Amino acid sequence: MRESKKNIYDYMLEELQQIFKPTFRAKQIYNWLYVKYENDFSKMQNIPKDMREKLENEYEIKNLEIIRIQTSKDGTKKYLFKTKDGLSFESVLIKMRDKKQDENGKITESEKWTFCLSSQVGCKVGCAFCYTAKGGFVRNLSSGEIVEQVVQLKKDNNILPEKRVNIVYMGMGEPLDNLQNVSQAIKILSDLEGLSISARRQTISTSGIAPKIIKLGEMNLGVQLAISLHAVDDTLRSQLIPMNKAYNIQSIINAVKAFPVDARKRVMFEYLVIKDINDDLMSAKKLLKLLDGIKAKVNLILFNPHEGSQFKRPDIEQVKKFADFLINKGLLCTIRESKGIDISAACGQLREKELLENENVPRRTIGKEL
Ligand code: SAH
Ligand code: SF4
Repeated sequence: MRESKKNIYDYMLEELQQIFKPTFRAKQIYNWLYVKYENDFSKMQNIPKDMREKLENEYEIKNLEIIRIQTSKDGTKKYLFKTKDGLSFESVLIKMRDKKQDENGKITESEKWTFCLSSQVGCKVGCAFCYTAKGGFVRNLSSGEIVEQVVQLKKDNNILPEKRVNIVYMGMGEPLDNLQNVSQAIKILSDLEGLSISARRQTISTSGIAPKIIKLGEMNLGVQLAISLHAVDDTLRSQLIPMNKAYNIQSIINAVKAFPVDARKRVMFEYLVIKDINDDLMSAKKLLKLLDGIKAKVNLILFNPHEGSQFKRPDIEQVKKFADFLINKGLLCTIRESKGIDISAACGQLREKELLENENVPRRTIGKEL
């Protein structure tokens, strides 16, 4: 039987340099893949024919297929990808306008891109509010499948190589439950011969697997950390995120305190605001106390309701009161702009609809009723 081909996006430059010699050949391949976004080995003209043949025979360059793109009124785009083994997951591309004023008062506008990547198909954590959780866990994405999301998004949107792109691992899956592949992807994405997205511009969002936060810190990748906190007492947090029973709030706070934070950066605490569940000012007060002594910023996310969800979107006035309380006490706090709300760009919803139509993935009941 013919061995299946390897995914070319799985490899760090140093690894390709061991295979394709002399070493400048691997750099040329990297340039075709990540600067020219070439997805056909036969078009890599400056690579010798026999090497191109080796690449074609042994490596796969198109591992993901775009099967649907939904574009929001605000320009946010949600991509549904299909893997070689027929699984689907999503990535989201968020376009922001950046206005800068120079010393002469001249305003220049530039585009800023944020790519929200998936790290797994499905998720094991099973948060009560999350649509991804409903499909259960299927498998980890490989590092190549994580990297290729970026290449395809850049190619499909004609984003020039030098344009600044930020990465957030906030799509489908729990990135710290797939730490090996995610960390390899972070290294590949940051290579200066390739996509050049420095680890400082990549943020891992986690539901709080405390020992893995410590491990990530020890890896010293230079990556940013975001914690999906969502609740300030363990009873409520365990109802929202069942894993809190194993890694409670204090264990997460201790892990964050041990995490190496860039001098100019802060750890982000994401707080999903749910109407009448965690939107009261007493919670804001407890949050302030909890984050005492941490270089933190808080990002309030308005719960995005989905079919069958038991929770409600909070009143924006209440969320503003929550934010004002924290800001008045000196904590950096923002309310996440609802990008792509009309296309359900929050978490796993597009795939879920596809799943119902096409796939036979086992389902499980998740979270506790509140
Ligand atoms: N598993 C990781 C990263 C993926 S989830 C984590 O939980 O952090 C990314 C973010 O989407 C999390 O902060 C999560 O709380 C948020 N999210 C999930 N469901 C949502 C919903 N229905 N509305 C708004 N945000 C949601
Ligand atoms: Fe998994 Fe994150 Fe969804 Fe929780 S919020 S189920 S950790 S993807």
